Amino acid sequence: MDEALPRSLAELRREIDLLMEYGAPAEERTELTKVVDRYAADIIALNILHSFYSFLPEAQDDGIVELRRIANHRGVFLLVAKSLLNDYLYLADREKAEFLGPLREGIWDQEVLEFFGWRDREDFFKQAGDPEGLMIHLPVNEAPDLCPVCGTADGELHTPGCPVEICPWCGGQLTSCSCRFTETGREAFTREAHLDEFLELLAKKGRIPFNAAEQRPTLKPE
Ligand SMILES: [Zn+2]
Ligand SMILES: [Zn+2]
Repeated sequence: MDEALPRSLAELRREIDLLMEYGAPAEERTELTKVVDRYAADIIALNILHSFYSFLPEAQDDGIVELRRIANHRGVFLLVAKSLLNDYLYLADREKAEFLGPLREGIWDQEVLEFFGWRDREDFFKQAGDPEGLMIHLPVNEAPDLCPVCGTADGELHTPGCPVEICPWCGGQLTSCSCRFTETGREAFTREAHLDEFLELLAKKGRIPFNAAEQRPTLKPE
């Protein structure tokens, strides 16, 4: 069930620092670095920062001063990156970030709109047209409504392989309990098909969604 992460947090961070040496205006570097520091443990935000500094939407020196969250669903986040020059939309998950364009253009992709529950582009603007009305994106590990590891929302299913997911058979940690063997009757998983077979049984049994109230007890409200 283990999934290899595409890049480690530290690795991403190093690359962002390097990219910023070329792309971020020198006189703003200290402030812009604080933004990156704030999200040092949030792979979603780091993927956006990495994409931004690799690509620089206006093709000139720029930097992200703030991230705001518009929506999240099944571990996929739609954020506004407020830069020194403009506001941009990014779609991101734990693996990558995708640049969608300036916020004022809205979203044209119907599939993306429907994924987050908007009828159309107008509907999107009603909720997200004014970035000042959106909440600041808390790092995934600090947001009380999100799984601290995969970033899924309260009541939604974890990203496959998330270590926070609870096993519906034994109540233990699904990534490490032995139910995959007892339920399939196999001693080892040597083929992709063996895992698929288990995932099918798991779906039939019913996966346990993330429960913020029970699974984030260490988080103290401020
Ligand atoms: Zn999770
Ligand atoms: Zn189990």
